[in-house]
Amino acid sequence: MQWIKRLFGKEAPRIPDALWQFCFQQLPFLEPLSAGERIRLKAMSEDFLARKSFTGTAGFELDDETAVLIAAQACLPVLELSLDLYDDIAGVVVYPGSFLIPQTEVDEAGVVHEWQEPASGEAVHAGGAVVLSWEDATDMDAPGYNVVIHEFVHKIDMRDGNANGCPPFLPEFHAGIRPSHWQAVFAAAYEDFMSWVDELEAQLPEDFDDSRPDHAERYDELFGVLPMDPYAVRHPAEFFAVAAEAFFVLPAPLQEDYPEVYELLRLYFRQDPLGRA
Ligand SMILES: [Zn+2]
Repeated sequence: MQWIKRLFGKEAPRIPDALWQFCFQQLPFLEPLSAGERIRLKAMSEDFLARKSFTGTAGFELDDETAVLIAAQACLPVLELSLDLYDDIAGVVVYPGSFLIPQTEVDEAGVVHEWQEPASGEAVHAGGAVVLSWEDATDMDAPGYNVVIHEFVHKIDMRDGNANGCPPFLPEFHAGIRPSHWQAVFAAAYEDFMSWVDELEAQLPEDFDDSRPDHAERYDELFGVLPMDPYAVRHPAEFFAVAAEAFFVLPAPLQEDYPEVYELLRLYFRQDPLGRA
């Protein structure tokens, strides 16, 4: 973090051009950005780096490149909105790999179950940090997958309370979106996506075991047709965050399968990733 440390506290840190170019090239979905968008994304990333603290944990050594890669991806969803949407983010914490989040659930009999679940990222509520697994954040194997965008979109969603898949509509930017329309479109798409995933799951072998290569291959073959990560079925908030990942990183299948969702995301983020390509 030599460069970040050196500039920390100064008003307008500039990301050295060579470092910016190097990071930009590692994020192929940024390639279609216009010259003007690139300049604004760099300036916003500089602002983001000046405002937020970055912490490596569990032995992860943060360097300038990591910080710039996170800043550029975090700023993409708010590029045409405002960095103020991230005001309540305490900072960014980076683990080398997946980390465990304690979970609790009360079952129908009233019994409390507690367990630890591995996570690739977490957006902590109400003024909390964004936590990322660097191994997952740099995993380019899964098409349309982007942990950094996912977690920051949760943070946008949380600005008006709990993450529920309905982000705050800002009068200066979102006058053209009717909240009731948003809710109807997203609810219908979420229902549809859940049945689609159920149908695919029903076609998996009954003794499905993803450590078996033939089963893993069957899984990829079946689920590869989906326009987004099936993790989206977990909750309406996950559906919104996963759809936003696809919107920015691999928009064509999303637009094809859920054109109304694509259109609302285009209006919300005030960007048209398909139009750029
Ligand atoms: Zn999530």
